[in-house]
Amino acid sequence: MYKRYFPEYKDHIYLDNAATTMTPVKVIMEYNYYWKFNANIHRSPHKLGQEATEKYEQARAVVAEFAGFNSNELIFTRNTTESINLLANALTLSASDLVLVPWTEHHANLLPWRHSIADIEYLELDENGYIDLTGLNETLKRTKGIYDRILISFAHIGNISGIQQPYKKIVTLAKAYNALIHVDAAQSIVKYKYSDVDFVSFSGHKLYGPTGIGCLCVNKKHFDKMDTYQVGGGIVTEVKKHGQTYIDGCGKYEAGTPNIAGALQLQKACEFITELGREELLAYEKELTIKLKEIVTPVWEDGVNIVTFKTDAHPGDVATLLGGKNIAVRSGMLCAEPYVKSIDERGLVRASISFYNDIKDIEKFSKAYNEVCQLLTK
Ligand code: PMP
Repeated sequence: MYKRYFPEYKDHIYLDNAATTMTPVKVIMEYNYYWKFNANIHRSPHKLGQEATEKYEQARAVVAEFAGFNSNELIFTRNTTESINLLANALTLSASDLVLVPWTEHHANLLPWRHSIADIEYLELDENGYIDLTGLNETLKRTKGIYDRILISFAHIGNISGIQQPYKKIVTLAKAYNALIHVDAAQSIVKYKYSDVDFVSFSGHKLYGPTGIGCLCVNKKHFDKMDTYQVGGGIVTEVKKHGQTYIDGCGKYEAGTPNIAGALQLQKACEFITELGREELLAYEKELTIKLKEIVTPVWEDGVNIVTFKTDAHPGDVATLLGGKNIAVRSGMLCAEPYVKSIDERGLVRASISFYNDIKDIEKFSKAYNEVCQLLTK
């Protein structure tokens, strides 16, 4: 019933939504920037420049509201990966800071922390894929008072398991120990707003928006403790022969000309999702996912809209043969190599649902999957 919003969705059975989502017509057609007010922002006094600035800031306000933050708390980036790199750098982490992160995370939420000089302790998951809260509590108790800052960073919904972590409980625990929280919301922002957390990252392309734009939301109380990330034009109040001063707030993290058209398209994507209704979409996806779980047995039973499974044949062969039948799934390490290899050294196959999928897609997947399995076991 939702397919009509997506022009590309004709011949494919697209079950690779945890990699990127398709783009609705409303977002594709949002080209006002190039047609009507193509100018640089925050620097040009002319009418076009003023209008472009206004629209860009309007987009910031809409996207921030969608994420649960204020408009002066959202930095536009390129994607989730850049958002987390920005955060890991701007926090100027030192050896007297501790980052707590599940070792099972997407590489984007692992490597930026490893790249810093902060201490890292890895959080464990239970056999169902949930963060072990007793272990987290013990770690927080043990490390209390030893570090200047403790940051807990985790994906609210995992891109491998689809498991939705008990984010509210983690927030309560963090608060009890005065720890900071960063949520990697790449997989969950379509479904949830965030409040009560310090930092949130997400990408436009997993939110039915364009590629090349993402966001880092920062509770504004942290800005005065954050350093610059990339530096250059657009983020300064004064540059002298020796020395410079930077502007405050979000703008300080958007050096150079940003992706203005992308911000406007992302605004459209947020409005599109809001119009359809986040709760309705989630409920629909959950129902469809149950049907998919009747066909393949997921490694993680509780995955919200993701079904990741082991295969007897090589996972790459299964995904390639399915691809030949116009069924799009992912296989391999799924950008979380430690986690995936702990289950199968060869990789896994992942089918991920969006609201534009329907029961016919699941039936076609079922038929194709059975054919592929038969062929590969001959
Ligand atoms: N974290 C999670 C949970 C993800 O699902 C993804 C994308 N698959 C990322 C981070 C990285 O997103 P991007 O490639 O857009 O930076």
